[in-house]
Amino acid sequence: MKKQLNSDTIQGSKEPTRMCVICQGRFSQQILHRFQAKDGEIVKYEKLGRSFYMCQRCIKNSEKKIKKILINKFRIKSKNIEEFGKILKELCTNG
Ligand SMILES: [Zn+2]
Repeated sequence: MKKQLNSDTIQGSKEPTRMCVICQGRFSQQILHRFQAKDGEIVKYEKLGRSFYMCQRCIKNSEKKIKKILINKFRIKSKNIEEFGKILKELCTNG
């Protein structure tokens, strides 16, 4: 029996994927949240600066891990990371 080749799916969807900095999983850009490090804080992406992505699952389930990784990666002060924790909670409650 001949296997049916579906070239559309094999040669790749052209959908752009981005990596979540927390779990390192790759996801469609559309479902990721984009942030940036700015003046020692983490803020929502404002089209300038060094940005990164986090997936919804990490935001919901891995707050401690997120804080630890961001502190190490971007040298965020612990006071500022608490502020960012509030942003994360908002994102969770908004769905
Ligand atoms: Zn993730």
